[in-house]
Amino acid sequence: MINKELRIGVIGVGAIGTEHIKRINHKIKGARVVGIYDILEEEKKKLADEMGIIFYGSGEDLISSDDVDAILITSIDETHADYVLKALAQEKYVFCEKPLAIDNQSCAKIVEAEVKCGRRLVQVGFMRRYDKGYMELKKLIESKSYGEVLMLHCAHRNPESGLHYTTPMSIIQTAVHEIDVLRWLLQDDYVSVESILPKKQTKMTHDNLHDPQILVLETKNGVVIQLEIFVNCQFGYDIKCEVVCENGELGLVDPHYTYVKHNFSNQTPISPDWQTRFKEAYDTEFQLWVNGVLNNKLEGPSSWDGYVASIITTAGTESTNKGEKINVMLQEKPSIY
Ligand code: NAP
Repeated sequence: MINKELRIGVIGVGAIGTEHIKRINHKIKGARVVGIYDILEEEKKKLADEMGIIFYGSGEDLISSDDVDAILITSIDETHADYVLKALAQEKYVFCEKPLAIDNQSCAKIVEAEVKCGRRLVQVGFMRRYDKGYMELKKLIESKSYGEVLMLHCAHRNPESGLHYTTPMSIIQTAVHEIDVLRWLLQDDYVSVESILPKKQTKMTHDNLHDPQILVLETKNGVVIQLEIFVNCQFGYDIKCEVVCENGELGLVDPHYTYVKHNFSNQTPISPDWQTRFKEAYDTEFQLWVNGVLNNKLEGPSSWDGYVASIITTAGTESTNKGEKINVMLQEKPSIY
């Protein structure tokens, strides 16, 4: 039985965990953070004391506490699957930041465990589905006013990525957002993925990173998506999604900004980072998740979506390694999704 106010326990209080805690406690209605756990015990215990909330002795203690109704997982990727499975074992609602797990088998295991619970309990942090621009694009596509969608030209550009960033990470950590949001936008699934590594690379790259890269995704309905991933573009955080239809083109513009025409120039700022670009999307994502949990009806990105994203990112890196197009097959979608 969930209280009127959802009591959330957070596992992993790093960069995005800290932002989500502030978001939940200061912006979101109907929820508050009551406890945290992080492997950096000493530092985060202090934080918990400052916030007047409980620091749990382990993620497991937090998950099984009677004082925690729902779990938010914002620890590092490798830890997600285990915590999600433990939350499902307690039949508790759990919001897991992307990725759901770091391999296809673990994602499938989560899907299986959730199906055994008989209802949706998991939401995955694919927040682009809550971005105003993507939501409007979806409505325009579904209106059919511009005919059928033929192809998409997309780009995911970050100003810089650092020396830790590698070629597979461009797909697994960066392109994964498009991989999820585009199949939601088109209400379609992918049948193949091909990774192309252009010979010409930026000077800003390093030995372990091929930058930029291109992914070509083909859907069941025959739509071809060309996705540029460029993680050292230097000029800003730039997200493009151009939908070419039979009799029209639809696309995203960078929100929030005004342009200045002056001295024979025309200047429009570009978002500096993903936090700024998708700030409102994160707020909407969390409000709707809390509403969904309180109403016992989750509608956001599911374990199934996390599983599909994993299948596609794995196939994408396989394509990079083999230098060929990879056809993808999904297991049958369970009826709870
Ligand atoms: P981060 O700053 O490294 O924070 C992760 C935190 O988890 C760190 O404090 C880390 O401690 C802690 N941790 C490590 N192992 C743990 C364990 N076994 N149990 C509990 N806590 C543990 O990373 P971040 O940038 O916040 O990213 C966190 C997650 O969010 C990642 O999975 C990432 O992919 C996802 N993310 C999603 C988006 C999005 O747009 N949806 C954006 C950013 C990040 P140590 O520092 O000691 O390892």
